[in-house]
Amino acid sequence: MAPTEEPLMRFGVIADVQHANIDNAYNFHRTFMRFYRHALHKFKEAVDTWNDNKVDFAIQLGDIVDGFSGKHGHLENDFRNLTNVVKEFKSVGLPVQKTDSGVYSALDDASEEEKTPYMCHLWGNHEFYNYSRAELWKSEFNSFVAPSGSASSLDLDDAKINNEFGYYYSFTYKGFRFVALDAYDVGDMSRPVGCDLHTKAVSTLKKYKKDDKYPSIVNWNGALSNAQLNWLHNELLTATQQNQKVILLTHVPLDARASREASLIWNAAEVMRMVHCFDCVVACLAGHFHAGGYYHDQKNNIHHVTFQGAIERDPATNAFAVIEVYEDFLKINGYGKIDSKILKF
Ligand SMILES: [Zn+2]
Repeated sequence: MAPTEEPLMRFGVIADVQHANIDNAYNFHRTFMRFYRHALHKFKEAVDTWNDNKVDFAIQLGDIVDGFSGKHGHLENDFRNLTNVVKEFKSVGLPVQKTDSGVYSALDDASEEEKTPYMCHLWGNHEFYNYSRAELWKSEFNSFVAPSGSASSLDLDDAKINNEFGYYYSFTYKGFRFVALDAYDVGDMSRPVGCDLHTKAVSTLKKYKKDDKYPSIVNWNGALSNAQLNWLHNELLTATQQNQKVILLTHVPLDARASREASLIWNAAEVMRMVHCFDCVVACLAGHFHAGGYYHDQKNNIHHVTFQGAIERDPATNAFAVIEVYEDFLKINGYGKIDSKILKF
């Protein structure tokens, strides 16, 4: 690792922008001030910095718009303002192309003209406070990457998206596989009443909600469905066969040591048991827990990074990152309250 060596790629990261055009207010426990209106400018500052750093792509880890936006009747305007900032993102590295059906298609190779600026958006609980899955699918915040050649078949109808479709997908670049999870595949607000995945969420909540042993089983967290677990298994197997390193992306964290027990995916233990059967995962990047956290699981050599929420940083500071990817380490260049560090694997 020569310090002057150029990274394989650079990407931007931000979590929990939670913009709404409303006044500052304390969080539920009155421990942190939230700067809802100013959050739009924080996101804009992140995009400008990512452009200046010529990142190859960016990852927005979810909760870009706050639930209060809809409650206060600002949703249309707030969403348009956020969308306009997304459109200012210019960096292009990832070989993906936006298709007529509104999803991205992975290209094995692409000329500069074919590539589209790509921001990988995850959907958090706040997206679902405001929108149905089908609405999100048709929005600027759908980053689904279809495997080569299958994009046209993914023009799904609303009922299928709302009831069955999981917003999980992956993309590969320069020997790394980025695997975006749907933390609300099973959820009581992310699925319409009556569908199987909603029924499963409601029965899980009923069974464990009052049980102190399961503090994560609350309706602002969710779970991966069996279908998603099977898909993830396949992703990890393929990555292993193709000698790729995997970076997991999830709105809700997977390890309490980089978060807290109450802010985890319901079936995080089951997910990580599967992940630990393989050697390919080097990092899990998450948001949702605004205080942020970091834990290096040395036994499995996985870095769990939970990014601080941009919403709770006062207007004088911010919370986002530019991550440089090298063969055997990640270099996090933190802005504002995010610590800079090197994660070796
Ligand atoms: Zn969240």
